[in-house]
Amino acid sequence: MTMLELRKVNTYYGNIRILHDLSLTVEAGEIITLIGANGAGKSTTLMSISGIVPPRRGTILFKNVPIHALPPEKIVALGLCQVPEGRHIFPGLTVRENLDMGCFLRRDRKQIREDREYIYSLFPILGQRQHQPGGNLSGGEQQMLAISRALMARPELLLLDEPSMGLAPLVTRQIFEIIARINRENNTTILLVEQNANLALKTADRGYVLENGRIVLHDRASALLRDEEVQKAYLGI
Ligand code: ATP
Repeated sequence: MTMLELRKVNTYYGNIRILHDLSLTVEAGEIITLIGANGAGKSTTLMSISGIVPPRRGTILFKNVPIHALPPEKIVALGLCQVPEGRHIFPGLTVRENLDMGCFLRRDRKQIREDREYIYSLFPILGQRQHQPGGNLSGGEQQMLAISRALMARPELLLLDEPSMGLAPLVTRQIFEIIARINRENNTTILLVEQNANLALKTADRGYVLENGRIVLHDRASALLRDEEVQKAYLGI
């Protein structure tokens, strides 16, 4: 089943066109990565999908439902959640309260408890710190909390914007291992935007390369890792 399809999406900031006829597909169960230089339009692509910066032209289908004209909260309710760049947790709320914010649309209390326990098994540090303010956590722990908060909404499709931003390599690797686990264990489909193209392509099934708001290449992630142009431009080889 196709989980997400973008057809000729064009997104603008004011008069400036950022995305040019951007088309891509994400099949159910896949991890897809979008790589590209600073300013290529990766974040804008995610924000177009989640309704924060709606496209001016083009079609976005989520589970075959057109979502390009829906407000963000309607899109979330359909099962599509975005973890924004820079994390944006609630620093004054406890870890547990932050998680509760992710599932305020849900009423199934027993399931919510189970999901919380699952999250504490993925990230034991969040369980240990559940009563501490989110603002006391390290950068890596805040990223874990931001991902976990999105998971509490039980998304079918998770959009992750630069999960490695500002984190030490060891913490980044841990987070990527968990991203792969979330995909494997819950069958959550993942669209991942990442500067660390090497790690992203090693985690993903397929990848799209974005330049100046256009898709210039797409292939299996393993093929992109071997591609000479990709190696030169994005992998520092
Ligand atoms: P980065 O890795 O730096 O976040 P990106 O590939 O995610 O890069 P975008 O953030 O999508 O790129 O930015 C694409 C283009 O849109 C850039 O030229 C950027 O300057 C411009 N842009 C981003 N946000 C705005 C905004 N709010 N208003 C006007 N232009 C913007």
